[in-house]
Parts: sequence; structure tokens; C-alpha cells
Amino acid sequence: MARKQAQTCSFCGRPMPEMFAGERDNAMICSDCIEAGHRILASRPRVSSVQGDDLSLETLPTPQGIKDFLDQYVIGQEEAKRFLSVAVYNHYKRLLQDKSEDDVEIEKSNILLVGSTGTGKTLLARTIAKLLKVPFAIGDATALTQAGYVGEDVESLLVRLLQDAEYDVTKAQRGIVFIDEIDKIARKSENMSITRDVSGEGVQQSLLKMLEGSIVNVPPQGGRKHPDQELIHVDTHNILFICGGAFDGIEQKIAQRLHTQVIGFSAQAEAERIDKNNLLQYIAPQDLKSFGLIPEIIGRLPVLTYLQPLDRKALRNILTEPKNALTKQYEKLLAMDNVTLTFDEEALDYIVDKALEYKLGARGLRGLMETVMMDLMFELPNHKKTGAPQKFTVTKEFAREKLEKADFVRLQNAI
Ligand code: ADP
Repeated sequence: MARKQAQTCSFCGRPMPEMFAGERDNAMICSDCIEAGHRILASRPRVSSVQGDDLSLETLPTPQGIKDFLDQYVIGQEEAKRFLSVAVYNHYKRLLQDKSEDDVEIEKSNILLVGSTGTGKTLLARTIAKLLKVPFAIGDATALTQAGYVGEDVESLLVRLLQDAEYDVTKAQRGIVFIDEIDKIARKSENMSITRDVSGEGVQQSLLKMLEGSIVNVPPQGGRKHPDQELIHVDTHNILFICGGAFDGIEQKIAQRLHTQVIGFSAQAEAERIDKNNLLQYIAPQDLKSFGLIPEIIGRLPVLTYLQPLDRKALRNILTEPKNALTKQYEKLLAMDNVTLTFDEEALDYIVDKALEYKLGARGLRGLMETVMMDLMFELPNHKKTGAPQKFTVTKEFAREKLEKADFVRLQNAI
């Protein structure tokens, strides 16, 4: 009798070969039930014991403090850094505002970063999240579709945020979501009433609710909502949304606007003051509207700033200056094998030349460095066994030899 009991799971009642006993009574549980229980627990929201996270007015870095931190990781982009620092500071001050005393409602300052791909938009957002130690998620607007269409629902962005917060809903509700390629969901034309790009506008509409703040029902494991799935309610009022996009061709819209604006009495002088090589610096909300973003979305992204294209000097600095610069990473890796690695200046200049020549941008620098370093990283650790410290200098000749063998088409496609 006792044996039979021992072989039957107290939960599902089935006789199972692998069984686990409780400490005090003779209740047994089978491995299937343990797994099922684990799945349920993993998908349940956890309520934080702390109120959100450790942010407080005392610990919140000032805009200058935020910018100083960004400077350690992101080269250039002064304007964007200043805008971001202030917006993020104000956002978290808004969260820390004592609602019981104040009747002034501080509005949310979601941010839109406009700049070519690979200029540091994602890096800026990621670095801010690192500084504040808040959950962070990246999503791509191109993957999003209107509910009911093939593709991801906008809620998928919150699934990633929840995962990053380890399903701590309170924490996730103070996180940062970066939505890349927001320009790709623009309507194709400003005045399309009959042949309207429904899907683009539909996604904008669903994003809108999330950006302005609403309770979103999120399927815990992502994917489509399932009728019998327990949904997690995420309040997006305090989530900071940072959107990014290249907005290719928006310079023309800016030029058109500036052109019409400067017609008039002092037109000549005004026109001369405009820097035609960098029109992005004049970007204004109406240009986004001309590009095809709906006014409501533009209104929900009140902080608008731009990123400069990276020139030779910036690319060169990216290799050596940031706290986790590529050269520093390789030096560190090889130092662990007792190898002192150095890079000749000319070698780095040459790598930057190649990035410019093949239009690989900042993102391509990593691929180029990997190509230069691959054989070395394979061979140098072999000498570790001899115990003697070693030195190696990457010269221009060495870099050239490695890169000439490389397949640039592959590199270009990889970024
Ligand atoms: P974007 O989001 O604008 O397309 P990313 O932020 O993803 O570009 O940049 C790609 C990579 O290029 C980053 O991970 C980083 O290594 C490098 N990078 C780009 N811009 C900068 C910058 N301004 N300073 C330092 N590194 C940069």
C-alpha cells in the first residue's frame, strides 16, 4: 500500500517513475508537475519589495552628471547628449514628484533621435539605462504590425522590458524602451487619403497609446495573445520611450521649409546663415509631419534632437577613446594571456580609412578590427605555456596584410 502511494504523484495522481518527496509528510510530486509549476511561476508578475528601484532625488545624477557619463562611452553628438540628459533627468524627477503635495503635473518627455544609422542612437539609449540601472529593451518598429496582421504586436516591446526586469512589473514600469527605425512606419505620403498606407498608420496608432501612457495587457512569454493565457498588466505612464530613426531624405523637407520660411524682407541674410551641409540641425516637428509621422505621435515625442554623421576624426576616436573602446578590449583580452598589445597610430588611421572607403561607418569598425585581429587572437595564446611575457604591436603593414585578404562585400553585408 505504502509503495503504491509513493509512486503516485499527489498533484496529478498519475503513477510516475521519477518522484520527489516532501520533507514532513508523504506527499510526492512528479517531474512533470514540477516543470508545470515552474512555468506558471516564471510567467507570473513579481511585485517588488522595494518601491520600484533605488532612484531617489539624492541619487539621481544631474544633467551634467548624465552627460559626463555619456561622454565616457559615446563620441561627439554633443547636442543629442545635452537634450537626452535634460529629458532623462526631468523624466525621473517627474517620477519622484510627490503627487500628494503638487498640483502641477509634469508631462512625460519621450525622446526622438534623428540621425543616420550607426551614429550612436542605440548606444546613447543603452548607456543611459546602464547609468540609471533601470530595465532596458530595444525593439525595431519595422517588425511591428497592426494587431491582427502577421508580425509582432506593439506589446512585444514590453515583453522584452519585462524580461529584462526579471518579470518585476514595478521595476519594468520605470524602465526605458528604445524603438529603432520609427521612420519606417511613416505614411508614405502626407496627403494620401484614398491609397493610404494603412499598416504604417495602424502601427502608429497602436504605438500612440503606449507612448502616451496606458495599461497594456502583455502576454508574458511574448507571441500572440492566447485566450486562456494569464496577461500581465503593464502601466506605461512612467516608461520612458526613446525613438530613433534615420529619416532618409528628411533634409529635403527641412530645406523646403527653410526655403519658404526665409522668403521675405531679410531673406538673403537668413538664407546665407543656413548651413546647407548639415540641415538636420534645423529639424522641427513639422518636418516629421511632412515625412509621414502622424501629429499625435509627434506630440508624444516632445524632445526632438539629431545626431551628426560621424567624420574621420570621430571614427578614429571611437577606436581608442570610449571606456570600452575596441582597442582597449583587445588589449585587455590579450593581457589575460600575458601579452602586451599595442596599436600603431598609422594602423588605426588605416582601419578608419577602410571604414570610410567602404562606407562601413562606426558599426563596421568592429568587423574590420576583428579581421585584423583574428589570426593573432588564435595564435598568441599558444605561447602562454612558456610563461614568458610577450609584446605585440599592430602596425599598418600588419593591418593592411590582414585586410587585403578580407572579403569586404561580406563585411558590408554583415553590418
Ligand atoms: P544607431 O542606433 O544610430 O544605428 P548604434 O548606436 O547601434 O547606431 O551604433 C553602432 C555601433 O557603432 C555602436 O555599438 C558603437 O560601437 C559604435 N558607435 C556608433 N556611434 C558611436 C559614437 N558616437 N561613439 C562611440 N561609438 C559609436
